[in-house]
Amino acid sequence: MTKSKDPIAEALKSAKSETLGVRAGQVRTHADEHSEALFLTSSYVFDSCEDAATRFAGENDCSVYTRYTNPTVRNFEQRLAALESAEDCVATSSGMGAIMSLCLAQLRSGDHIICSSDVFGSTVVLLNNFFAKFGVEISYVKLTDMAAWRAAIKDNTRFLFIETPSNPLSQVGDIAAFADLAHQHDLLLVVDNCFCSPALQKPLALGADIIIHSATKYIDGQGRCLGGAVLGAEQHIESVRSLVRAGGPSLSPFNAWVFLKGLETLHLRMRAHSDNALAIAQWLEQQPSIEQVFYTGLTSHPQHQLAASQQSQFGGVLSFRIRGDKSAAWRFIDATQMISLTANLGDAKTTIVHPASTTHSRLSDLERAEAGITDNLVRVAVGLEAVEDIMADFNLGLAAL
Ligand SMILES: *Cc1c(COP(=O)(O)O)cnc(C)c1O
Repeated sequence: MTKSKDPIAEALKSAKSETLGVRAGQVRTHADEHSEALFLTSSYVFDSCEDAATRFAGENDCSVYTRYTNPTVRNFEQRLAALESAEDCVATSSGMGAIMSLCLAQLRSGDHIICSSDVFGSTVVLLNNFFAKFGVEISYVKLTDMAAWRAAIKDNTRFLFIETPSNPLSQVGDIAAFADLAHQHDLLLVVDNCFCSPALQKPLALGADIIIHSATKYIDGQGRCLGGAVLGAEQHIESVRSLVRAGGPSLSPFNAWVFLKGLETLHLRMRAHSDNALAIAQWLEQQPSIEQVFYTGLTSHPQHQLAASQQSQFGGVLSFRIRGDKSAAWRFIDATQMISLTANLGDAKTTIVHPASTTHSRLSDLERAEAGITDNLVRVAVGLEAVEDIMADFNLGLAAL
């Protein structure tokens, strides 16, 4: 039923990122719908046995089964690929599904990977508890210590995996320097671009080979659906697509449709998240009961210049240390009323969490100390409410100290 040609593809060839977010990847059906259609179907009918045989042989791009392809999912993949300037994209059931699929497709027993030490918690669990079991060796290195990365590379190293800015302390990895290091040793550089989204940072343009997304965060933007994606050159993505088809962590068409519409407002939202977060970070820095604020947009951030050189803005996530101990941090958080106490981020609603007792509670005391996750640290993902109202809620927290 899909028309074979994207009618506006030509017009989009030189379009800017904002335009691609709204327009890229749309293929209208014969119903001539203006808004993208949602194809909630698990399978597709064939015109004839010959047509079925042709489709199964992969000789045309018509659909067979939604674990393999679905027009809405493809629409999302193509729009996200356009935003990241990636040759190809495969969507997955979650961000973790994307990381798992990439590792299953690309690694074999005996391979080694190097990962920045403060990556998303489930990434560490997946690598240590499951991939290690199949003989994959993992080293963790501090994001900002390039000499240590160089020293950690071995003959069996396959890729470098980083997240920048890091969570929750907003450390910045120099993507171009990582790409140089990786390519000097014939390795792939994988960047988890969840915190910035393509609206703020485009890792492939800086030399990265593969991008991971958790679409659950800013791409959805309203905390509704789980999803993810792996992007890069076709030669890297082909095996991941084949793994997703065979193994099944495919994205649901409904979630793909939510993300597709999310991409249309991504640039606007990221601008607003960034503006709000900067205003909040600057305000928090003025408060006597706040010891230190971690946000790449602050000129006091030691890597502010690096962040400004590879990001167009600084995103919505910040953290800060309260003068006091764990009970002070808990009192602050519990005294807020509007802000949601939840581990999620990338939502229109501002969220707050105490990392040491939640997202980073699995770490030992020593690991937490090394990572700088102190008991007085609070993480906030600044949402889209009026900045004055977020400050008013924080004032309730400050009053409780
Ligand atoms: C949330 C998150 C993930 C995992 O994504 P899910 O969609 O929850 O599976 C991976 N990386 C980062 C940086 C994240 O914040």
